[in-house]
Amino acid sequence: MTLPPPDADARRAIAPVICYPADGLPRPDLALYARARAGARKVEEVVAPPREAVCFEVAAGQVVRISCIEGAQVGDLNLWNARDLRERFYSGKTRALHGSHVSVGDRLWSSFPSLRPMATILEDTLGWYGIDEHGGAVHDVIGTRCDPYTHNLLSGGQYHHCCHSNLIRALADHTGMSLQEAEPHVHDVLNVFMCTGFTRDTGQYFMKASPVRPGDYLELFAEIDLLGALSACPGGDCSSEHSSDTAACHPLRIEVFAPDEGALEGWAPPAVNGYDRGHGR
Ligand SMILES: [Zn+2]
Repeated sequence: MTLPPPDADARRAIAPVICYPADGLPRPDLALYARARAGARKVEEVVAPPREAVCFEVAAGQVVRISCIEGAQVGDLNLWNARDLRERFYSGKTRALHGSHVSVGDRLWSSFPSLRPMATILEDTLGWYGIDEHGGAVHDVIGTRCDPYTHNLLSGGQYHHCCHSNLIRALADHTGMSLQEAEPHVHDVLNVFMCTGFTRDTGQYFMKASPVRPGDYLELFAEIDLLGALSACPGGDCSSEHSSDTAACHPLRIEVFAPDEGALEGWAPPAVNGYDRGHGR
């Protein structure tokens, strides 16, 4: 190992700088969204059964609520532009812009070259949780999704109800694609209700029992027409293990609400990103 230089302490003491100050981002009109939400009526309800995923569609301007209904349960969420599946949720950029965990007012951003808000978080009944003594927080954009490949690497065996596979089956069923066609569309998730962080001593990704209880929910305002898929993770509350049938696992409810005609007067879905894609040529 290289010996530390004489000025090691001074180098470590340099103050951090926020990479992407959030006040430079376009701000959502949360008051307008809240007024529209207040008069909205339910137009759809589906349930993701334990260790399964379901797809749902949310038109631009509608609101989707994801609820814990029977017992503590984590959900793995994928979002696509309903008209072009190539535009999809970009967990890494969302993390860079808003932090490792998201809550009210944060946006869920889409992939390049669109890079625009796909959804805005309107309500979060776990907003009280904050950051705990272990550095854990709720609704992360750091975990990728449980998957059978990592499971096979670490433990061997073939497990077919990881969120990755659940999302593939749901997308295939919804679109008519084969499993092989659907798989490349599945992407890094928003871990709804999941409590995670990085250990302070080793920097490792950790999870702990989710604080979610029946009645808790997360609400997203759809900025564009969305196709979503939500998997009720085989890890249940993610207090011990995932990628197995061991954990107690519960369903998650998805409800879609449509605002009254005219309630979003003056609002329009965000345009795709303004970069001209010249890339210097
Ligand atoms: Zn999972």
